Amino acid sequence: MDFNIKNKKISFVNSSILYIVPTPIGNLNDITYRAIGILKKVDYIIVENIHRASLLLKNFSINNVPLITLNAYNEHKKTNALLSILKKGQSIALISNAGTPVINDPGFYLIKCCKELNIRIIPLPGACAAITALTASGMNCNSFCYEGFLPKTHKKRINYLNMLEKEKRTLIFYESTHRILPSLKDMMMILGKDRNIVFARELTKIWETIYSTSIEELVFLIEENKICYKGEITLIVEGYNKSIPISSEALETFNLLKIKLSKKNTISLVSKIYNINRNLLYRYILKNNL
Ligand code: SAM
Repeated sequence: MDFNIKNKKISFVNSSILYIVPTPIGNLNDITYRAIGILKKVDYIIVENIHRASLLLKNFSINNVPLITLNAYNEHKKTNALLSILKKGQSIALISNAGTPVINDPGFYLIKCCKELNIRIIPLPGACAAITALTASGMNCNSFCYEGFLPKTHKKRINYLNMLEKEKRTLIFYESTHRILPSLKDMMMILGKDRNIVFARELTKIWETIYSTSIEELVFLIEENKICYKGEITLIVEGYNKSIPISSEALETFNLLKIKLSKKNTISLVSKIYNINRNLLYRYILKNNL
């Protein structure tokens, strides 16, 4: 497939090039024209899983391009053979099961080797769960940390979260159904129960859910089975914000006491009850017009 851009014919595929091609994270319409064009014309497509890739490619009538598997177990072993194909002048597209390759998906070692050997890499823009969830989060999107999956064990997770506790940028995590609860409980302990979080599940699919709440409430909703947490999950967590050191309980108490007491006395009492710096509380109340 070729494109005419301002009367210049642009061919989709060149030789000795590794194309990085994102595929949909759910909704098949999210593939791009350019991605289909390249996948149809390359000499080989690197896939994570032959079965899943064949199903996906069939949808776009891509049936005749040979597939090569690359995954966490064989990446180092297979890379030399892939580099030889590229050096011979053939082109390869790298795809993963879903979304943007290399983002918590295989391909990093191959790309690193291509760079070292000056083999051209052409990355295509496309679907990525992290960015899709971030854009709908209502949190700072100009400065963020992509963290992928948290460590699997409680101890390692706690150490990792401790490192992120004071991170001011928006945090993005991938999570699985069976680890969401322990991960959220650790987040609650280290990042704080009141920290804002966006639970983005099954993005672009029929049961897409994007829910904004606090970490504590999300734990409650999941424990009480009030929210479905099956399927693919991305979590967006608000960065550390020093100007919000006040818990929701303290604010509730403040609101109740201020009905009967002066603002000054209320601040004084709440700061004593909840052990909050009086000036900090005062500035917070002023800033938020409470
Ligand atoms: N490379 C992929 C990307 O660009 O998003 C991510 C691959 S990673 C192995 C898979 C994880 O991404 C899932 O466990 C989930 O946390 C997240 N994810 C993938 N698809 C998603 C979706 N449709 N909705 C929410 N999260 C998704």
